[in-house]
Amino acid sequence: PAMRIDIVSIFPDYLQPLRMSLPGKAIERGLLELATHDLRDWALDVHRSVDDTPYGGGPGMVMRPDVWGRCLDAVCPDGATLVVPTPAGHPFTQQTARELSREKHLVFACGRYEGIDQRVVDDAADRVRVREISVGDFVVIGGEVAVMAMVEATVRLVDGVIGNAASHEQDSFSDGLLEGPSYTRPEVWRDRAVPPVLLSGDHRRIAEWRHDQALARTRDRRPDLLAGPAADRAD
Ligand code: SAM
Repeated sequence: PAMRIDIVSIFPDYLQPLRMSLPGKAIERGLLELATHDLRDWALDVHRSVDDTPYGGGPGMVMRPDVWGRCLDAVCPDGATLVVPTPAGHPFTQQTARELSREKHLVFACGRYEGIDQRVVDDAADRVRVREISVGDFVVIGGEVAVMAMVEATVRLVDGVIGNAASHEQDSFSDGLLEGPSYTRPEVWRDRAVPPVLLSGDHRRIAEWRHDQALARTRDRRPDLLAGPAADRAD
């Protein structure tokens, strides 16, 4: 396979939707190997506990380093890249997805509660590349949905997973802009007509119109994208 992905979670069943749709097809076609692991398999006590109270006090629980350490020694070999989802991480963007899509082996460590003891990350970083990544400025309950978003964004960029590479070259963000609106049949629906330019057959005019729409939408919804370094490419 082009890529192997291992995901560790205390709710491995949460990740099963990844076996459907596009990643599922990539697995069937042998392009992607996906394994999920139950963190509790590396807990040694009868209660299979994975968390403890935080040093320094405060609410909530923190995930134990000993359990995570044993687990990552087993599932994250040298040469893999470890991705740790956390709202305190570097922001995940389409560029991050492109970088991850070039890796051979990704291991995702899903946190729960107040997150994972920091020494787990520091220890793993002695032997593998570690990336602490946030999927947005909000806090979800566990790493699983963050990992699902990152895996979907990454896998669709792996060579061969989407038949027509042009389909992601035109996606939002690939040219630094949001994608404009899309239309399909019928030509008129509930008295709303498709923009006539799209029916003109004039490919140059259509491309210009799409670019204008993308620019207008980006100005309205994400002016920050136009202020960044990609702004040179926008006009
Ligand atoms: N105490 C942590 C903080 O404030 O940074 C929040 C922990 S959160 C309740 C539990 C887990 O959900 C995290 O360890 C992480 O795996 C995941 N998580 C929550 N929000 C996330 C986000 N925006 N991006 C990535 N992972 C997130």
